[in-house]
Amino acid sequence: MTTIRLRFPGFPQLRVSGVDSIEFEAGITPEEVLNQHLFDLPEAEVLAAKFNNKIIDLYVPLKESGDLDFVRPNTPEGLDVLRHSSAHLMAHAVLRVFKDVEFAIGPTIEEGFYYDFDLDHKFAPEDFALLEAEMKKIVEENIPIRRFEYSKAEAREMLKKQRAHFKLELLEELGENNVFSFYQQGDFTDWCRGPHVNRTGKLKAFKLLSVAGSYWRGDERREMLQRIYATAFPSQEEVDKFVYVREEAKKRDHRKLGKELALFSFQPEGPGFPFWHPAGVTLLKELQHYLDGILFQHDYQEVITPMVLNQVLWQKSGHWDHYRANMYFTKVDEEDFAVKPMNCPGACLIFRNETRSFRDLPLRLAEWGRVHRHEKKGVLSGLQRVRVFTQDDAHVYCMPEQIESEIGDMMRMLDEIYKKFEFSYSIALSTRPPNSIGSDEIWQHAEGALKRALENHKADYKINPGEGAFYGPKLEFHLKDCLGRSWQCGTIQVDMAMPERFDLAYVGSDNQPHRPVMLHRALLGSLERFTSILIENFGGAFPMWLAPEQVRVIPISSEKHLDYARVVYEKLREQCIRATLVTRSQSLNYEIRQGQVQKVSYLLVIGEREKTNNQVAVRSHEMGDLKAMSLDQFIAGAGAEIRSRSLHSGFKK
Ligand SMILES: [Zn+2]
Ligand SMILES: [Zn+2]
Repeated sequence: MTTIRLRFPGFPQLRVSGVDSIEFEAGITPEEVLNQHLFDLPEAEVLAAKFNNKIIDLYVPLKESGDLDFVRPNTPEGLDVLRHSSAHLMAHAVLRVFKDVEFAIGPTIEEGFYYDFDLDHKFAPEDFALLEAEMKKIVEENIPIRRFEYSKAEAREMLKKQRAHFKLELLEELGENNVFSFYQQGDFTDWCRGPHVNRTGKLKAFKLLSVAGSYWRGDERREMLQRIYATAFPSQEEVDKFVYVREEAKKRDHRKLGKELALFSFQPEGPGFPFWHPAGVTLLKELQHYLDGILFQHDYQEVITPMVLNQVLWQKSGHWDHYRANMYFTKVDEEDFAVKPMNCPGACLIFRNETRSFRDLPLRLAEWGRVHRHEKKGVLSGLQRVRVFTQDDAHVYCMPEQIESEIGDMMRMLDEIYKKFEFSYSIALSTRPPNSIGSDEIWQHAEGALKRALENHKADYKINPGEGAFYGPKLEFHLKDCLGRSWQCGTIQVDMAMPERFDLAYVGSDNQPHRPVMLHRALLGSLERFTSILIENFGGAFPMWLAPEQVRVIPISSEKHLDYARVVYEKLREQCIRATLVTRSQSLNYEIRQGQVQKVSYLLVIGEREKTNNQVAVRSHEMGDLKAMSLDQFIAGAGAEIRSRSLHSGFKK
């Protein structure tokens, strides 16, 4: 009898105390190990095993000594095994319900998985309940799932028997020496790399989401298949939450709300170039105004650099070599020019325009930088991917020893802004990539400064090794909206290349010229994109300071109450409150409904009693009907709410 020795790095407290490894008979499976109850982990809570860091099926015999661990549902690896297995489960159900079907591929994707089918029946969402019921049945049957390994010739025979000509096509592209594994659950067998759960009973929570046409191998000259998108999670609660977020995201889609609230539009005359309508411009301007205040407090100065600059500049900056494909070009007086895709070279020209002393540093130049970037038509998406946008850009020129405190200051600004919107956020530090410029010393200094700034800020961050730009390390800020979705917004980059290219210098305390370090940073990222996030986060019901229409004054009768309503309206406008007045009389219910649909912060209803008592009847979008109050009281409360840029109404119900 051969024995093997297994170590369990995931279980420091083995029941058999005082040992760091245990001897087993060779050929024991991870499942059998689990069933010896050496540790407190029921087999039912395990999806697969991990042997010497490779994920394997639970029933694969172990023939050599090594490290054994187990894959649990609430891990990225576990989720992948779960979803992979659920793709087979769905295919199995399709086979049982529709019989005559051919299978193409069924991979996992970020939000779940899909499977491509070829069959005569045209799938409709009405089929989903039927398929889900069949999937549940297969789960209840708790069918064992088993792996078989074949040679290429055997695999070919198997696929021929299944009349799986799509898979046969893939098979013929692989070499003889591959392992061809098949997974069988009852009457369904699928060629797949695996691994999977060991029985269907472990798949408890899934949901079919949508169906779409898809060409075999993405080639429009090939067969059109039907793709069902679905998802799976360890628990039904997680599925429910996923479905809720998905539905809510659809309702809040900024493209839909942008149209409904007349914020912006896209026109065929300018694909990817947004048209901002008056209500949308109000949003952008309020955001800019808010940011401008923070920039002032942090000692930034604002610059504006030209939209179009000559090609020689872009060759010097490196954009010609690295970014040309995304730029727009034009000719001015027979000379080649380009529309700026970034604001940095312009900022460098301003820095270079004067003699700078160490006493001028750090020099913080902010710019609402409108940039044009040629994006391919296919990737354009609402305000998320556009061809022109406005960066809340800034370039800080400083001495190397100032990097840390400057980064710290930027992080405080970012923190203040994200908290204003009640966004939580995470930070990623991208470090030196293989093909980078600059000395080891300066890279170590720059990365060290970023790390120290993060630690001073007591921020949790993860490191993306080698993901930095070739000219310096960077920080990326990912905010989380109220649906838990993550968006990359702010960035801070250390740049050691551009000061070199533009030969920037300052006069040091030693009276000698020195090279400054350049920091690029954007807090919102793109104003347009950040606005789209706000639209979705608030579902179009903006806090009062951002709301394009803050107050709507509604007279009950346009004959009897319009004169007083007009007084109210004018008093509000005097206070710079964005109010409108309803002059043509519809029914009161209709007007209130309209005000709600259009998400006006406050509706003021004016009737006989209000007119007599110099009052207003207030309806808040956030809280519903409030008590009647004097006009002065409302103006004072509304003014305070706007000035404090509060996310919530300051009135009591
Ligand atoms: Zn699979
Ligand atoms: Zn820049």
